[in-house]
Amino acid sequence: MTLKGKSALVTGSTSGIGLGLAVAFAKQGANLTLNGFGDRAEIDALVASLEKEHGVRVAYSAADMSKPAEIRQMIREHEDRYGAVDILVNNAGIQFVSPVDEFPEEKWDAILAINLSSNFHAIKAALPKMKTQPWARIINLASVHGVVASPFKSAYVAAKHGVLGLTKTVALELADTNITCNAICPGYVKTPLVDKQIDQQAEAHKIPRDRVIREVILASQPKKEFVEIEALGDLAAFLCSPAARAVTGANFNLDGGWTAR
Ligand code: NAD
Repeated sequence: MTLKGKSALVTGSTSGIGLGLAVAFAKQGANLTLNGFGDRAEIDALVASLEKEHGVRVAYSAADMSKPAEIRQMIREHEDRYGAVDILVNNAGIQFVSPVDEFPEEKWDAILAINLSSNFHAIKAALPKMKTQPWARIINLASVHGVVASPFKSAYVAAKHGVLGLTKTVALELADTNITCNAICPGYVKTPLVDKQIDQQAEAHKIPRDRVIREVILASQPKKEFVEIEALGDLAAFLCSPAARAVTGANFNLDGGWTAR
């Protein structure tokens, strides 16, 4: 329970990686603000079950990460509730795939807003109170696509490269404080969304699931295994531990060897 008394705000935490990171913090005793879209009754049930299982306080913000005013409001509400944002995880993200010359402009704008600009707005809004605290952590969920590119993902790749640039700049500006800023760069992660894609591809190609995983989904990931959400949670917990106190401005590739090529 090393994060007892601390609070974590994880954007896009109603599912997938964000939820996994929120659970990792709750296990360590941190109070939470969850954020993201979804069925309100299911989210309320999630909040109640996390509170019960981990004995922490859990709140929910429906703020849309494409809207700077809603991001500022979400941060203010978290501060009113818990005092300050001790751990900020910028995780919300969307994807769209298309050749660059056909890429819809509104999709470009949405991906840049949600995957990159939201990180800036949240960091800017949270920092004044964070700086009054003895300790704080900022973790940005980038991607292997923050380091290398793939075709047809121009907006996503541009946004995630931007997240790494922002991470390094914020780390330098905060180097004389006890606030660190780091990025996590996963390869393919086993989320329910990806699980569904495996079934669909298996049906479409008429090949078994294990071949879809090796030959289609994980074609670029040498380990041929998905990154487990729990592994991302473990890394986030490490970044919040005393062992990581000198780690700032870094990006961690959890990509099964993808960027070693
Ligand atoms: P997901 O679709 O399971 O979850 C995304 C979360 O963001 C959801 O809670 C959703 O409601 C929320 N969200 C989407 N748009 C939002 C908005 N406008 N405002 C507020 N919340 C919004 O996705 P995931 O796979 O868990 O991805 C999480 C992060 O990890 C993203 O930044 C993604 O780019 C990154 N990532 C994922 C993978 C992967 O293989 N899944 C790999 C590398 C990086």
